[in-house]
Amino acid sequence: MNCILCQKPKKLCDSHIIAEFFYKLIYDDLSRRRIEPFKALTPDKHERPMQKGPRSPLLCEECEGKRNTHFETPMKEYWVDIDPLQVLENSSSATIRGIDYASFKLFHLSVLLCAHYAAERTRDSFFATVKLSDADLISIHEMWDKREAGPYWKYPIVASAILEPDDNGGVWRELITSPLPATDSTGKAYILFCFGGCQWRYYLTPVLTPWIESRCLKEDGSMFIEKREWEPMQMCAELVAQAN
Ligand SMILES: [Zn+2]
Repeated sequence: MNCILCQKPKKLCDSHIIAEFFYKLIYDDLSRRRIEPFKALTPDKHERPMQKGPRSPLLCEECEGKRNTHFETPMKEYWVDIDPLQVLENSSSATIRGIDYASFKLFHLSVLLCAHYAAERTRDSFFATVKLSDADLISIHEMWDKREAGPYWKYPIVASAILEPDDNGGVWRELITSPLPATDSTGKAYILFCFGGCQWRYYLTPVLTPWIESRCLKEDGSMFIEKREWEPMQMCAELVAQAN
């Protein structure tokens, strides 16, 4: 198998799809209080608890290193260490600012591309529901390879913070679930990921709606985020399961 980025037949790392530091939030929290680790919603609707972040042979050492330097390290420094979701602890919505647009967006697109290939390369994958079209594969690969995040309306990213299940009103940072393909009420297709305190919608269609436009990550480093309960994701999983 070739590296998914440089496409050379090199020895491949056991690459994570969602960066390990998001799982570390779970491990740390497990020692602090009793929570369920994380849930994988399989296509047959069963939830699987898992013990560690899924990995798959995807990237050569050089490309893995570049991904870490250019996307994952900036993501950890901003999203985990600075923790911009703190503003939502006592508020139901906020416009987050100071996001490094290119590294942040390419981090998410690299997750999406890795999930697609993990589904192809690893049997019984946590990411089995992710399947991108050839056109999206080529386009996202080129954006990653050239480190060009493109305009905000190209693969727009929308996030909603997840309300903790207890009554404290905080953000639920310890939840990671397997992704789900879905469409919004206007028929726009996206893939829903859940990690780092948010449900992330990665839209695949280039047409913006007013709802997407008002919420998606912008080139000035801002993004409007609402805090919502977890149920919509479960409903979404139900709907996907019924459709199948
Ligand atoms: Zn490579």
